Amino acid sequence: MTLLARLRDWERRTRPVDEEFRAAMARRWEGLPDIVKTPGQVLGRHGVGCEGTHGVFPRCNLACTPCYHSRDANKVAVDGPHTIENVRAQMGLLRTLRGPRAHAQLIGGEVSLLDPDDHAETLQVMRDAGREPMSFTHGDVDDDYLERLVLGKDGKKRFDRVSFAAHFDMQMYGRRGIARPPDEKSLDPYRQRFAQQVKRLKQAYGVSSFLAHNMTVTPANLDQVAHVVRSAGRMGYGMLSFQPAAFLGDDRRWHGEYRDTTGDAVWAEIERGAGNRVDFRVFEHGDVRCNRTAYGAFVGERWHPVLDGSDPRDLRVRDAFFEVLGSISFTGPPKREVAAQVARAVAAHPSSVPLALGWAVRAVRRVGARELVRSGVKPVTLVMHSFMDAADVAPAWELMQQGVVSDDPHQRSVQERLQACHYAMAHPEDGSIVPACVQHSVLDPLENAQLRTLLPLVEVRSRRYAER
Ligand code: SF4
Repeated sequence: MTLLARLRDWERRTRPVDEEFRAAMARRWEGLPDIVKTPGQVLGRHGVGCEGTHGVFPRCNLACTPCYHSRDANKVAVDGPHTIENVRAQMGLLRTLRGPRAHAQLIGGEVSLLDPDDHAETLQVMRDAGREPMSFTHGDVDDDYLERLVLGKDGKKRFDRVSFAAHFDMQMYGRRGIARPPDEKSLDPYRQRFAQQVKRLKQAYGVSSFLAHNMTVTPANLDQVAHVVRSAGRMGYGMLSFQPAAFLGDDRRWHGEYRDTTGDAVWAEIERGAGNRVDFRVFEHGDVRCNRTAYGAFVGERWHPVLDGSDPRDLRVRDAFFEVLGSISFTGPPKREVAAQVARAVAAHPSSVPLALGWAVRAVRRVGARELVRSGVKPVTLVMHSFMDAADVAPAWELMQQGVVSDDPHQRSVQERLQACHYAMAHPEDGSIVPACVQHSVLDPLENAQLRTLLPLVEVRSRRYAER
């Protein structure tokens, strides 16, 4: 490539606004129900939402209560080529319909049952489609697996960065060393171990990482949420996501009055662990009845928000963020490209500089300069994702398929949430995109029954890992 061609390429890659991405966000905004078009809405202003895979490796080697997979899930063999082929098709459709960039979760049953080479190839397929992938795991994995995932056969690293969402809670049975956890606290060493295993990839091989921690909340562990916020929040998990249990998936694994655990009760526990009020209206991802999100950081014992929702000056900073930096993806592209995009965006909006400086001064004052220096900053995003019950989703979705807006207030609220869904799954066979609630409530049972025939447990085509 000539010098001129290189400069042109650099100029293109560091543009703060990608027109295709902006058009995709505009379409997303257009499709949102009015009820979620709030000043803090992120969809359509800084992204199109999350995506996830389905129908690829539904099997898991732990047992969760509840489990969102259908009852046939554990009768399907894990098959690398099937996964790669189907993820490629799903990501291709998402790329076409939802634009050039998004976060996507490589999710099914347990991702580490995939051969590490197949897992790596799947992550690359996702990246090639403009998706920033995150692998979902129970975290009960060996160093050897993680090494084989990030290193190619030549021993060289094949990724600069990997992301995992690790699910830990006391209602998962069969974890090595702690088959039936008595409480959440007893899982802390396992949470810590996985965080250290992933961190080690940086020290040993130069592979950076992002870690999220997931936990299902039921009446049995609700009062332990605060403990998990405090403990996992200091282990290196950059996101703590709590899911109030829903009546979804395998009904043999429903063991509780899940609806006794309200979103407000879970959020109150999150605030107890954070040691602070946690405002989930500053930034909204879709419908707040589905998702509550708050960006911030632990400084010492206390979590602090990035922006204070009660301060109009901070809300102006949020609005400026959407306007000036909304089209920039902060994860995915190399850091130097992101830095150049930000610099160009700020140069085009010089009035954003005093706004940012004012915010920085207020943020330091709020936390305390001495405390900042003494304790350092641990960025942690707090999230609650509330799946809906299958019994609510199925009829509401059926009406939506017929173009009918329900008169029933409850069913209407379900339809609004589905329309604003933040977590989408693709069906290349008919070109549709569906909310994950619909996938798990309506489509998974038939899909897994078909997979059971296609990939019976006895036939395992992917044996590369075992043979290495
Ligand atoms: S509709 Fe379901 S999958 Fe989508 S964001 Fe709401 S709870 Fe999540």
